[in-house]
Amino acid sequence: MDGGALDPDLVATLNRHAGHAPRWRELRTTPEPHTTERTAGRPVAAALAEVAENAVDLLGGPLRDRLRACQRTGCLLYFIRDASRREWCSAGCGNRARAARHYAKVRRGSGG
Ligand SMILES: [Zn+2]
Repeated sequence: MDGGALDPDLVATLNRHAGHAPRWRELRTTPEPHTTERTAGRPVAAALAEVAENAVDLLGGPLRDRLRACQRTGCLLYFIRDASRREWCSAGCGNRARAARHYAKVRRGSGG
């Protein structure tokens, strides 16, 4: 997420998984017309394919420039930055990060 080139091994892995389980939508008519998604792959392969396809869309699409790593220590999640100063993946991570910062400050004895 530093604006550098994508790891070629990561790209190869995403592309391989994205193509492993073809999916398509079918029209069903009962109890009323609706669509359902079908796959020719095993359930795990289909789930991995969907995750990989979403990653392909994210990393290759316009949202890539807004993708950020959560700044809370220990959090491994990423998020789409929708506000200019957002640093965390969720409100919960923001609260935990602020609390950790506060406790670190108190431990250093600089008050609170
Ligand atoms: Zn987080």
